[in-house]
Amino acid sequence: MSNRAYNFNAGPAALPLEVLERAQAEFVDFHGTGMSIMEMSHRGAVYEAVHNEAASRLLNLFGNPSGYQVLFLQGGASTQFAMLPMNLLTEGKTAGYVKSGSWATKALKEAKLIGETFVAASSEEDKYMSLPDVSNLRLPENAAYLHLTSNETIEGTQFREFPDTGSVPLIADMSSDILCRPFDLTQFGMVYAGAQKNLGPSGVTVVIAREELLRESPKHLPTMFRYDTHAENNSLYNTPPSFSIYMVNEVLKWIEEQGALEGIEKKNQDKANLLYQAIDASGGFYRGCVHPESRSTMNVTFRLASEELEKLFVKESEKEGFVGLKGHRSVGGLRASIYNAVPKSSIQALVDFMGQFQKNHG
Ligand SMILES: *Cc1c(COP(=O)(O)O)cnc(C)c1O
Repeated sequence: MSNRAYNFNAGPAALPLEVLERAQAEFVDFHGTGMSIMEMSHRGAVYEAVHNEAASRLLNLFGNPSGYQVLFLQGGASTQFAMLPMNLLTEGKTAGYVKSGSWATKALKEAKLIGETFVAASSEEDKYMSLPDVSNLRLPENAAYLHLTSNETIEGTQFREFPDTGSVPLIADMSSDILCRPFDLTQFGMVYAGAQKNLGPSGVTVVIAREELLRESPKHLPTMFRYDTHAENNSLYNTPPSFSIYMVNEVLKWIEEQGALEGIEKKNQDKANLLYQAIDASGGFYRGCVHPESRSTMNVTFRLASEELEKLFVKESEKEGFVGLKGHRSVGGLRASIYNAVPKSSIQALVDFMGQFQKNHG
């Protein structure tokens, strides 16, 4: 498989080669059914087993805490930005948002359309190049929840620790770092993630929530926008994105094979260290964008002395088989997304390329 690209795409992103090959092997005939998993009824026993397996594998990776349920939804994390306040930000309540970057800001924008909100902490003054301090938040009594973005995919920051919000449910958009490390799910009322960064292909959004938060959606909400609809119907109220969910199940199997979340964390730490060390050891030729204590292990953002040099970097890297190193159009610079499925060998190749590029242009 020497023709696989060095894939640093931000999302959709690299998938484990083993998963792609397994899916390929059963693509046309799933377990002797004479059909692809894509071609069968979502009401049949074969599909339902896969569906339920994916949900239970997910909870299992978090140690099966009691009272949590998994939902498989559509519309991406962006739909959750609205669906969350539609369901939980009810009359007389307010919702707190940690404004840590581009995605947190988008989540807040949607909540403002639905109800009353407040900014509990913000690092906007620092242009989101660091994370706001969330260690001593004061939350009003009528707070419906506190929302934070565990990993800011565009800026390249990542929370190491999460605030204690007492009886107020803590809710996290974990789209770009879910399953990158162990964490205590019971700290959270709900976490959600679009699958296409760390969980599988695009098309499915995973929600893991405490059951009581999924139980009573406001009466006026249309059926498909209600958490209770999907919770009561095991995410099978309507046709689910069955192929994406099948792929998520395969990625979860792969994570188990990597030593589960502890094993994955070790690998991610090692990968991120390799790249950040190369940046820091370059004598200022490469400059990390964010404060070192806020650095993400998933999205590594860095710059060169000029935009011209950055453009040249992207161009030359593409010639060498590297994909996706251009920073997000809203912030510029360079970004290497090194999610779970990006092998260390890709990062070693990038570090070697960076050394060579510096030699040629430094
Ligand atoms: C990619 C991303 C989103 C948007 O996800 P969609 O599935 O495209 O809606 C939201 N939040 C974060 C942190 C992301 O990385």
